[in-house]
Amino acid sequence: MDFSLTPELSQLRARVRALVDDVLQPVEDEAERTHGRLSDETRARVHRAVLDSGLGANNIPKELGGGGFNLTEQIVTHEQLGRLTNCLWVLVWSPSNVLVHGTPEQIDRYLLPDVRGEHRHAYAITEGDAGSDPRAIEAEAIWNGEHYELSGTKWFVTDGDVASYFIVLAWAIDGDERLPTLFLVDRDAPGVEMTADPDFTHNFPYRHPEFTFTRTPVPRENILGERGRGFELTGEWFIEERVHIAARCVGACDRLIELGTDWALHREQFGGRIFDHQAVSFALADCAAEVTAARLLTYYVGWLADTGADRKLVHHKAAMAKLVASETAGRVADRVVQIFGGRGYMRENPAERLWRELRVDRIWEGTSEIQRLIIARGLERRGPATLLGL
Ligand SMILES: Cc1cc2nc3c(=O)[nH]c(=O)nc-3n(C[C@H](O)[C@H](O)[C@H](O)COP(=O)(O)OP(=O)(O)OC[C@H]3O[C@@H](n4cnc5c(N)ncnc54)[C@H](O)[C@@H]3O)c2cc1C
Repeated sequence: MDFSLTPELSQLRARVRALVDDVLQPVEDEAERTHGRLSDETRARVHRAVLDSGLGANNIPKELGGGGFNLTEQIVTHEQLGRLTNCLWVLVWSPSNVLVHGTPEQIDRYLLPDVRGEHRHAYAITEGDAGSDPRAIEAEAIWNGEHYELSGTKWFVTDGDVASYFIVLAWAIDGDERLPTLFLVDRDAPGVEMTADPDFTHNFPYRHPEFTFTRTPVPRENILGERGRGFELTGEWFIEERVHIAARCVGACDRLIELGTDWALHREQFGGRIFDHQAVSFALADCAAEVTAARLLTYYVGWLADTGADRKLVHHKAAMAKLVASETAGRVADRVVQIFGGRGYMRENPAERLWRELRVDRIWEGTSEIQRLIIARGLERRGPATLLGL
């Protein structure tokens, strides 16, 4: 058993770190001041740098123009991106993996421009009455003999403000059939309206608006995958997204622990370093131990997926990684803010920003409770030995 990174993975880590340190981290202060809304000039400069780095669309196969990264390589990448505040990681785009199921025409029209960084899309699942339980969605696409008519309201549509199209989960109604299905819906199609644009706790380069679709015509050719595969394909997307979240949480913890340790070693109170108070150094010790466990688990999921493990097992393990890493990150951020004292509550401090921004990782792509539900179902249906890998 070898836990070290291969030379290729170490090189990849250094390459991503260079983009993080030289291009993205320097714009954190601007993003903080503007609530994440970078100027056009900064955005264009960063976009150019990401293109030059070749790291955009790294999750998409090489034959479709992407980086062709396996899951371990994606973890290495997201671990470094997770060091960033203001969710700047999103500027290194990862098109939704489900788009690879598109027809050749869909790939040309939707995926390839995404891969090249020419436009973005948004994935619209959640509704007012359907969050943790996507089977409760009400959005319907009714076949009228010529095309589908899509109606429904989707909440929290991340990147929706800049998206040129949406992947929408809705019930496809064909006669008596009612099947969960993904539809590719153009932003400028009739009946597509941004109906709310709320602010959220974190700063983010884009928005998470609400969109309403009113009898929006969608041609049959815009079904992604097949009719009836909506939940299954969304599950595929969730696995990748959850692992990305876990990796970014680990990277965020690394930066927090570095900042907290440095501060504790230099800050003096009561005539000595605060690090010498065990209340402080033990808190950092807990952070170091917990992030090490979260990192190993996350890489283990990458190894499982890349060595062809059963997809259901990867699904359960990805839930574990997201649960452990996001809960760890919440604790680490809280402790490090405490170690900074009043300075930890200042927005100029990256620890404060991460404390605020990491909160959503326990909510989106399935809350911590939903990850526990997935793990508990695994224990019940597959048995502890399989789930634990004994
Ligand atoms: C910033 C942000 C961006 C987002 N981006 C997107 C996006 O791009 N696309 C998209 O489709 N969605 C997006 N979401 C939605 C997100 O995935 C949901 O918020 C999340 O899945 C939880 O759903 P909910 O908010 O409706 O909470 P609810 O499902 O109403 O849950 C409320 C509480 O009840 C708990 N709960 C629910 N069911 C159970 C259960 N069975 N057992 C135990 N506890 C339970 C939950 O854990 C939670 O604590 C985003 C959300 C946020 C905040």
